[in-house]
Amino acid sequence: MRREEVFARDAYRCVYCGEVFPPEELTVDHVQPRVRGGDRSGGNLVTACGPCNVRKGHRSPAAFLADEPEALRHFRRWARHVWPRHLRAVEEEVARRLAPR
Ligand SMILES: [Zn+2]
Repeated sequence: MRREEVFARDAYRCVYCGEVFPPEELTVDHVQPRVRGGDRSGGNLVTACGPCNVRKGHRSPAAFLADEPEALRHFRRWARHVWPRHLRAVEEEVARRLAPR
């Protein structure tokens, strides 16, 4: 899916902070990182604003969301077009990372 299509589908809203941005301030993020077999189809892509993308850095979405409860809350609310299996994988990894050791 092309980036413009991802932005339009997500109504130009960043899934990590919940704010709406002009397209030039948006980026596309992979829910399941490409190194873990995630592809560029729509069910694996979400809209992220530039500042959130920078803050996230090289962390996987699940690692980022486990570290930032606000971002997790927004992601659960706004990442509606992500495939259920990717959402499950993210939730499972977040739960693992948040579990007491
Ligand atoms: Zn954002």
